[in-house]
Amino acid sequence: MSQGSASFSLTYSASYRGRLAPSPTGLLHVGHARTFWIAAQRAIENQGTLILRNEDLDPQRARTEFALAMIEDLRWLGIRWSEGPDCGGPYGAYSQSERRAHYLGAWRRLRENGFLYPCICSRKDLAQAANAPNDADDELVYPGTCRERKDMAGFREPAGVNWRFRVPNGEAIEFADLNLGRQRYVAGNNFDFGDFLVWRRDDVPSYQLAVVVDDAAMRITEVVRGADLLKSTARQLLLMRALGYAAPDYFHCELVRDGDGVRLAKRHDALSIRHLRERGMTPEKVLEMAGWP
Ligand code: GLU
Repeated sequence: MSQGSASFSLTYSASYRGRLAPSPTGLLHVGHARTFWIAAQRAIENQGTLILRNEDLDPQRARTEFALAMIEDLRWLGIRWSEGPDCGGPYGAYSQSERRAHYLGAWRRLRENGFLYPCICSRKDLAQAANAPNDADDELVYPGTCRERKDMAGFREPAGVNWRFRVPNGEAIEFADLNLGRQRYVAGNNFDFGDFLVWRRDDVPSYQLAVVVDDAAMRITEVVRGADLLKSTARQLLLMRALGYAAPDYFHCELVRDGDGVRLAKRHDALSIRHLRERGMTPEKVLEMAGWP
């Protein structure tokens, strides 16, 4: 059924570099506590470096007060990092809102090499594109309406139109997750994901592009994040290949759910770390709630 299959071999690096990449669009909750705690433990076990990256890409949704709160809540939990927006480091800036030049450079290369096309469709999912999609609100599969447009040469800057990555139809993207094992997704609008957004008409790079560019620029060797982003990993592997970047290792964490199977992320306020802390809960208790260990 598929045209081909690509297996992405993962490289092991002598010096481990991991990252915490929260989006300051709300308070961190118990689900974040678990993922970030695991990320911190893996960096310690590997005698590596942990980086904090502030994913404040979307000016409509990111807020400075949430960025400050996430730093404070992570510290309160006992998580420590050595590069970040609060302490600097050799691969800054560590806030995505200050990294536009990096994203623009990647957009240019992708466009010049024929990986992108402009899309004039107006779709509800565009509003979501700068945010990491989770399993419930993954980016809609784009039917490919604008794929064959021939008028892209005129664009010198990304703003004004949406830009999509032309996925290789029918190709299977496979990778070995260090926690969940072998993963396989097929690219293409009749399969698992279609031509995804790389840059939004209102001049905001997409989550997929920014994460790939930043993980490469910050020399990340292992990405630890929630299992809701597994399909995004497949998209990101395609972007990395197009940009000539080596893929990091992946460790996707199981999502924390309540007794009814509902993701804790969906019950943000009551289960925010901040709220639990204000009610007198200790960091140990919060981690226990998060199902740690
Ligand atoms: N910023 C994303 C989020 O908060 C996570 C990005 C990632 O780990 O790749 O969901």
